[in-house]
Amino acid sequence: MKNHTEMLRACILCGGDRHTPVCTSQDYLTGRVFTTVKCGDCGLMFVDPQPDATELQHLYPVRHQQMDPARYEIRDGHRRAKNILRLKRTGTASILDIGCGKGMLLNYLQAAGWKTCGLELSENSAATARRMGVQVYTVSLDKAPLDAAGYDVISLFHVLEHLPDPGRTLELLKPHFKPGGILVIEVPNAGSWHFRLLGPHWFHYDAPRHLYHFTPITLNRLLAAHGYTVVEQRHHDWQYDAFGLLQGGLNLVSGQPNLLNNVLTKETSFKEIARHPYRLLWLLVSLTVLIPGMILLMLLEWLLSPWVDGGTLRYVAKPPGEGQLKTE
Ligand SMILES: [Zn+2]
Repeated sequence: MKNHTEMLRACILCGGDRHTPVCTSQDYLTGRVFTTVKCGDCGLMFVDPQPDATELQHLYPVRHQQMDPARYEIRDGHRRAKNILRLKRTGTASILDIGCGKGMLLNYLQAAGWKTCGLELSENSAATARRMGVQVYTVSLDKAPLDAAGYDVISLFHVLEHLPDPGRTLELLKPHFKPGGILVIEVPNAGSWHFRLLGPHWFHYDAPRHLYHFTPITLNRLLAAHGYTVVEQRHHDWQYDAFGLLQGGLNLVSGQPNLLNNVLTKETSFKEIARHPYRLLWLLVSLTVLIPGMILLMLLEWLLSPWVDGGTLRYVAKPPGEGQLKTE
């Protein structure tokens, strides 16, 4: 019988091949089972074996094909724009948003006077962004006709964990920063107390779409390995952390993976749930119990945030060879 070690890929962070399985999870969309492993040398977690790029295209939910932005996408765009504007307080800055989805972040920044550009592989999402007047290319980073003048900000919001080779992307981005330019990355935190509390029910496993899971240690190491200097790191986000905790809690008690997420993102219609009164009742009872618990835990996370790792990592980094971060 083939043993587990024989089928393992080398760790992208340290080259190690001593991996141990962390979790086996069933994809809530396709029913396929994927294994997440942890590198015994550096602690990076990743799906292994991984689907190839062609397979991955067919493993994304239908919301990526929906034209209208969901309410959470509009809120995310606004929140991210506020964060970017806090970092660069100028009306003339430029941004490249990798995996820009329906372009909500870029739409907000464009309205604030920014020059914007997005990369997005979903044609429908890109079409939605273009309808708002946002420039989006539906090609990979190495083929995109990017602005030769470079960008003040390059952002990857909940994108790095989806990439088959995150280190290669960090390398490809290097020539595209203007002097003083910054990289902004947001990913789920696999070093969080959410992960430790929920184990295999952690909402952000999301295999095979999330190919890698970063902790503060492994994300710092990845950025350093490619010459980036971290200038700011945050370990808490109200919206992502609260929802991840609630959906993870539901996964734990209901045994129906990502049910609430699927209803809110229109992956599953509410009518479909309502056709099964028992499932609906169970969902409502679970939410009634879990929501007060989630609010209490989120307040604790916020109060203890200097010492406790929350559910989301947001990093700001300078590319190699750059001067001081501009905060004009
Ligand atoms: Zn490793």
